[in-house]
Amino acid sequence: MDFNTQLIIIGGGAAGLMAAATAGETGLKCIVLERRHRPGLKLLMCGNNRCNISHAGTPEDMKEAYGEPTASFLDEALRRFSSTALRSLFSRWKVPTIVARDRIYPASEDADDVLHCFTDKIRDFEIPFMTNCPVSSIEPLPDGGFMIKSPSLSLTAKYVLLATGGYSYPKTGSVGDGQRIAADLGLNLTEPRPGLAGVTVAQPWLQPGEKADIQQAEITVYDGEQRRIAVTRGNLLVEGDCLRGTAIFDAVRQISRHNLQDFSLVLDLFPGTSVTSLQSLLSRGSLASALAKQDIPHPLCELFADAAPSSSPAQFFKRIPLDVKEIRPLKEAIVTVGGIALQEIDPKTMECKRFPGLFFAGELMDIDGPTGGFNLHAAFATARLAIASIADQCGQSPKSKQFQPSQYQDRQPSRPQSSRWSSNTYPPKRQSSAPRKRSDRGDRWDKPEPPSWNRRPNR
Ligand SMILES: Cc1cc2nc3c(=O)[nH]c(=O)nc-3n(C[C@H](O)[C@H](O)[C@H](O)COP(=O)(O)OP(=O)(O)OC[C@H]3O[C@@H](n4cnc5c(N)ncnc54)[C@H](O)[C@@H]3O)c2cc1C
Repeated sequence: MDFNTQLIIIGGGAAGLMAAATAGETGLKCIVLERRHRPGLKLLMCGNNRCNISHAGTPEDMKEAYGEPTASFLDEALRRFSSTALRSLFSRWKVPTIVARDRIYPASEDADDVLHCFTDKIRDFEIPFMTNCPVSSIEPLPDGGFMIKSPSLSLTAKYVLLATGGYSYPKTGSVGDGQRIAADLGLNLTEPRPGLAGVTVAQPWLQPGEKADIQQAEITVYDGEQRRIAVTRGNLLVEGDCLRGTAIFDAVRQISRHNLQDFSLVLDLFPGTSVTSLQSLLSRGSLASALAKQDIPHPLCELFADAAPSSSPAQFFKRIPLDVKEIRPLKEAIVTVGGIALQEIDPKTMECKRFPGLFFAGELMDIDGPTGGFNLHAAFATARLAIASIADQCGQSPKSKQFQPSQYQDRQPSRPQSSRWSSNTYPPKRQSSAPRKRSDRGDRWDKPEPPSWNRRPNR
């Protein structure tokens, strides 16, 4: 059968963009179909628009952070595309990276540069990229291959890569279409839950309108039987009765991953300081100065000072039970826990076990990671593995199982780098690949406005 193309990539987010750029380098003929009017809307919001693309560490370190079942599932993808490989790939693609507190960012600290890197590659390889094209179904054809349907067009391809993302931030286009398409094919899904989400609490020390960014906090998650499930650390953003920030986000992910219906959270405002040391610290100075040293802003210090019992303030600050009213909804979560069941997918190739030729990449699968670049890395690594597997099947990739970016020779783009692009081409081509500092940047055109809590620098 004559197919319209070798490969159709559904979704122009982090995974779909990486897949398309890699397919271009590999020489696969592909078409990308994207639901929204432009690609990478969520990518642009990542890391407070600085785009925390990965996490420095060995594949084993990363697996430990992902935890099960994600860790085992990603074993091959991480082995073939470690964070070191990611850095060298982006550097080869003229996006140098930096590491800040183990988090990997583009050196310009500008998510636009990551998006432009992908879209420039896709354009240079003349990969057709169709926006405003929400795919509604995938139909396996009797003699192999698939028919892809959207309201406006139908296309056939030998291979399909589904990379439509999770359910969170639906305005960016990830509305769970891929999961619905997979369910229509009869594939099993696991229930979507909010991962990396905030919580609403009822605490006497929180007043309406209160805002703070406490840099060091620790949250302990207990199950209904008071067994300790996880300890998470990081910043704590206070916004009225809503708590967010790394410590809370990672705690909520653990609650979702462990399917805890009944749980409790305990906050430690002095992680790394024992009760005894804190007691002696408090006996030597005022409570307010101890709290201020912990970067707890002044108005909150006063509220805490009022709330702490004078007999044992140290114990109070080391173990503040949080009265959680609700976990914020999935649409506000940074990542979705749940998705296409991992049993449906071969982790060595990302191919669907029941429908050979259908591949998956990114957050639509039941994979997720903590804050710190793990989710983008998972999207990128699974996309690279899927494309390597498709290229292998087409005889278009090196035979070696070690899929490292350096093994792919740069295909010369068919269009010279210096050529000008028509004004209606999205996105406008950058004139220089030299990294720009965030501070050099004026207001960028039509950049999605992050939610207010997401505007703070998060170093
Ligand atoms: C505010 C915010 C900040 C974040 N910051 C970070 C960070 O700094 N580091 C990190 O590692 N992770 C971060 N994440 C998580 C990360 O962005 C996601 O895990 C990652 O984008 C998932 O990539 P994906 O390609 O699977 O899905 P997405 O990036 O969501 O892309 C899916 C794409 O598929 C398209 N699509 C959906 N349905 C269809 C359809 N039917 N037909 C065609 N196209 C379709 C969508 O429009 C979208 O473009 C952040 C998330 C949020 C919301």
